[in-house]
Amino acid sequence: MIVAEQKPFEQIFNSVKNYENIMVLGCGTCVTVCMAGGEHEVGVLTKQLILAAKQNNVNLNVEELTITRQCDKEFFDENTTNKIKEADAVLSLGCGVGVQYIVELFPDMIVKPGVNTKFLGANISQGLWSERCGGCGECVLDEYEGICPVARCAKSLMNGPCGGSSNGMCEVDPENIECAGQLIYDRFKRLNKLETLLEFKPAKNWSLSRDGGPRRVAREEMMFDDE
Ligand code: SF4
Ligand code: SF4
Repeated sequence: MIVAEQKPFEQIFNSVKNYENIMVLGCGTCVTVCMAGGEHEVGVLTKQLILAAKQNNVNLNVEELTITRQCDKEFFDENTTNKIKEADAVLSLGCGVGVQYIVELFPDMIVKPGVNTKFLGANISQGLWSERCGGCGECVLDEYEGICPVARCAKSLMNGPCGGSSNGMCEVDPENIECAGQLIYDRFKRLNKLETLLEFKPAKNWSLSRDGGPRRVAREEMMFDDE
């Protein structure tokens, strides 16, 4: 899922305090799961904004709403659309995709981001998420037996470990970050496939990653005119 965390409250308040009518818009998908921008967080933030406005003598009306997904047109029904249009600005607690999607749907609306979008990751333990995929466009997990060198190595090395690997940890943060090269080695060893690590691999095609500019996925069999 997309992992995000809420921006510092002061930053959020400063970004919206000059607008009279604010809509705090939550998203019921990834940011709900990582507890950054779901219905609960929208409720808490709304109360915080109202309180801060009173304390600072700011005239701020705050409405709240959470929709299933901010990155999909079908969840912006008539009721949601009307509520958004009544606001002077939307404070989106969706990820960066949600913020931009609202801008595209409502070109005249001011939309402020309420979260920092971090990465594609997994829940590791209570309150801890860790990056697992860099969206590289051409997945090599099959070649690396399910451990991603792109997202999990600080240098995205396809042939690690590098000289900064020590006791299974990465030089970037030896306390917290496991060395991806070591993880891959250990995985191959466990599967009795160490010799396959010696096989030649052609260079990865990075043009399918961010290096190739904004990407699209087109599924022609699913396309229809929805106007
Ligand atoms: S190889 Fe690419 S697509 Fe596959 S998990 Fe890693 S970053 Fe994601
Ligand atoms: S120590 Fe391991 S994870 Fe860190 S940069 Fe080197 S190969 Fe990558």
